Amino acid sequence: MVKKVAIVGAGPSGVLLAHYLLHRQEKYHIDIFDFRSDPETVPFSKSRTFSIVLSQRGINALRQIEGLEEAVKAVSLETNGAVLHQKNGKTRVFSRKYSQLSLDRTSLVIKLLEQLTIKGGNQVNLHFNHQCTQVDFAAKQVKFKKLDSEAEITVDYDLLIGADGARSVVRESFLKTENFQCKQNYVVNDYKSIFLPPLDPKLGINWQKGKVHSWRLDNGTTVLLVYQTDSSWSGVVLFPHKDKTIPELANKQEVLSYFRHNFPEIGQILPESEAEDFANRPVSRVLTVRCNRYHQGDSVLLIGDAAHGVSPSLGQGCNAALEDATIFNQILDKYSDNLAVAVEQFTLQRQADGMAVVELSDYAFPVSKKLFFELLFRNSLSKYLSRIFPKFFLPSLFELVAEGKLSYLEIFNLYQNWIAKVKKSNQEILSK
Ligand SMILES: Cc1cc2nc3c(=O)[nH]c(=O)nc-3n(C[C@H](O)[C@H](O)[C@H](O)COP(=O)(O)OP(=O)(O)OC[C@H]3O[C@@H](n4cnc5c(N)ncnc54)[C@H](O)[C@@H]3O)c2cc1C
Repeated sequence: MVKKVAIVGAGPSGVLLAHYLLHRQEKYHIDIFDFRSDPETVPFSKSRTFSIVLSQRGINALRQIEGLEEAVKAVSLETNGAVLHQKNGKTRVFSRKYSQLSLDRTSLVIKLLEQLTIKGGNQVNLHFNHQCTQVDFAAKQVKFKKLDSEAEITVDYDLLIGADGARSVVRESFLKTENFQCKQNYVVNDYKSIFLPPLDPKLGINWQKGKVHSWRLDNGTTVLLVYQTDSSWSGVVLFPHKDKTIPELANKQEVLSYFRHNFPEIGQILPESEAEDFANRPVSRVLTVRCNRYHQGDSVLLIGDAAHGVSPSLGQGCNAALEDATIFNQILDKYSDNLAVAVEQFTLQRQADGMAVVELSDYAFPVSKKLFFELLFRNSLSKYLSRIFPKFFLPSLFELVAEGKLSYLEIFNLYQNWIAKVKKSNQEILSK
């Protein structure tokens, strides 16, 4: 019998999982619900999106569904490392063995949805402007409010997927069940997106296109910029939550003078219109999520940020979210689509990995300036030594994360001393 799947959340994890389920010999009928409007039909909104980098882990998850990697690559640019811009105007270049894809989160979702619509036929239905409000685990029913009419609908399911992000309503319902623990914390840095125009050759600024560019102040405020397919640059400004300098920039003059003083290169190309938009753009806060269980009963599963919301610092949230879909698909293969077994197995196989990616993302980068220089030194050393003596020296944590061959838990275990050191130092600094 065809099983009814309700997926809450048309983000990267929910839509990719729908692709995987669609490929399982018509065993599933899939309904995807999202409280937002269809991103394919609404005008692009800069306040709702940001650039992400997909490493090999995320790319591998796309590759397993025919046509997805190509479709996503068509709206991405290849990056293969990072450039750290120092205060003295010099740069440090970090190259990666494996190339990554940089693209806008909304463009990724649009490509995944486009392909799903082409392949889904009447096996998949998309419902936008539907906000999940409540789940009844015993009755296997989920409720939605239709945001365009305020009507409420109840949907029956055989399998419910909570792919509704870090502030998951599906996960909230788990809190009423026994032995479920979930810790949510705001990451130490808030962020605002930033969008810059193509570089004017007359300015003599020559940022390498295939790299993630970063600038960092002593207080930890960091600008990350990535080249875009339309030759523009976009990224985020991350700043400590306690520091109100950026949130208090009230108008374009204040924004322009802040950037000209602190990030002169960026200040040089920041147009007045973007300075105005930047002042008006809301500050975003990111939640990290650590749960002890990703399933409920025999028919409910949390995936992606709903299960393991991470800090954006390591660029792994989306990669981990996409990998979840692959892992659940492998479990369905192994247990012949027995959902009761599969959802429990997902917790058993993925929860420790989920905890590891949250820890790695929180504590790979130190707040302390001294430890930050130690990190740069360690990275250069391990890059050099691991190439000459691969049997005796590990690649850097960042290289291991980017190549995606080891699980997050394996990487965490290899680098647990560094993570523990940064955690202790960060907690000491942030508690002051
Ligand atoms: C600034 C920034 C930079 C990042 N950079 C990277 C990066 O470089 N690389 C990387 O791998 N990751 C990055 N991430 C993380 C990445 O964006 C997320 O991990 C990823 O989007 C998670 O996908 P998801 O599908 O699990 O959840 P989401 O992308 O959060 O999608 C959840 C969906 O659920 C919907 N939804 C929520 N609540 C409800 C409800 N009640 N009812 C119905 N629908 C609902 C939302 O509208 C949304 O469409 C970054 C994040 C940020 C904030």
